[in-house]
Amino acid sequence: MDLSRSDDNIANRVRAMCERIDIGTAAGFYFYNLSVTELRGGARVVVNGREMGMFASYGYLGLIGHPRINKAAQDAIAKYGTGTHGVRMLAGTLDLHCELEETIAAFKGTEAAVTFSSGYVTNLTTVSSLVGRNDYVFSDKLNHASIVDGCLLSGAKFIRFRHNDMKQLEDKLKEVPADATKLVIADAVFSMDGDVIDLPNVVKLCKKYNAWLMIDEAHSIGVLGKKGRGIEEHFGVEGTVDIKMGTLSKTIPSVGGYIAGSTDLIRYLRHVSRAYIFSAALPPAQAAAALEAFRVIEDEPQRVADLQRNTELFITGLKDRGFNTLLTETAIVPVICGSDEAAFMVTGEAHAHDVFVLPVISPAVPAGLARLRATVTAAHTPDEIEHAMDVIEGAGKKIGII
Ligand SMILES: *Cc1c(COP(=O)(O)O)cnc(C)c1O
Repeated sequence: MDLSRSDDNIANRVRAMCERIDIGTAAGFYFYNLSVTELRGGARVVVNGREMGMFASYGYLGLIGHPRINKAAQDAIAKYGTGTHGVRMLAGTLDLHCELEETIAAFKGTEAAVTFSSGYVTNLTTVSSLVGRNDYVFSDKLNHASIVDGCLLSGAKFIRFRHNDMKQLEDKLKEVPADATKLVIADAVFSMDGDVIDLPNVVKLCKKYNAWLMIDEAHSIGVLGKKGRGIEEHFGVEGTVDIKMGTLSKTIPSVGGYIAGSTDLIRYLRHVSRAYIFSAALPPAQAAAALEAFRVIEDEPQRVADLQRNTELFITGLKDRGFNTLLTETAIVPVICGSDEAAFMVTGEAHAHDVFVLPVISPAVPAGLARLRATVTAAHTPDEIEHAMDVIEGAGKKIGII
């Protein structure tokens, strides 16, 4: 197909997106897909040849590059090579995978756990393995795209409730037949706003209406709770979430996703999940890195405390400087700029002063609420955070949003 001549829907879509990218680039407003070329210590990276403070990382506990984790990955390559013999169900399972899954289960306080090749795929396959046509799935409106896609793929009736609105969740649960199969799903920490799901009340509603509960802890592992065990520890309601999902690509500096839950739930997924049965196992180096990361979190509890101190400092400091940070309570701190252009301009200013933050615009967030999606980690020093906030303040004043 000749793209320059064709005008079917595919060609038109491709052209429209490329034009949008070209316009953004020409205006100096394109900040995506930049490459980091080097790590320099805990929270500094080299981008575009410049060393910058990293304020856009998902590595909340600062574990990327941790010597113990690097060594575990290297040792695994020496022992097993770089790949597996295929899918987990057939020849792809290594003792490392089993050890990783037992460690995750212990960390999450469940009987068992299973891993998949990404967090995205974990949500897709888990939701679609658990519910189908005739069932109902209830999803918070701000849930991550991978949850939405899993719900759509499942074919279940897809019911969305207003963000963190328990009254509306209850109204919607009431509307469906009492004997229908129901699954409620929410992020623990919402990935664009940084706020936390009202878990105690979701649990109550799930009990009252006989619904299963699945929580995505992509941004809550290592972040919430004194020991970083996540949302149940945060609220002191251990053992209340039926299906605990998480990723191995954020706080855990590897790749992959997991589900932790009862032995039988996990056995079911190992024999039904298409992503488990038809997609290759995690490579040894990544499984070993993830495993070692869980051990480091236990051995170095100070990291969780440092993250929580830094979070407090960052949120309070930005609010005191006059920024709107919505309802965040976590390391994800939205800095509301308003229009897409304002978010781009503030980003450009921050980069010019070597603070690496990234803008999030519509449709990822509602129009008019374009923002910097800034994050803080355990690896930042208080001085680095103060400096970054001063830079963001200067940019905000220059652009006129504060
Ligand atoms: C990042 C993320 C995922 C996907 O995880 P990956 O391991 O990156 O595929 C799922 N859910 C939420 C809430 C996320 O933020």
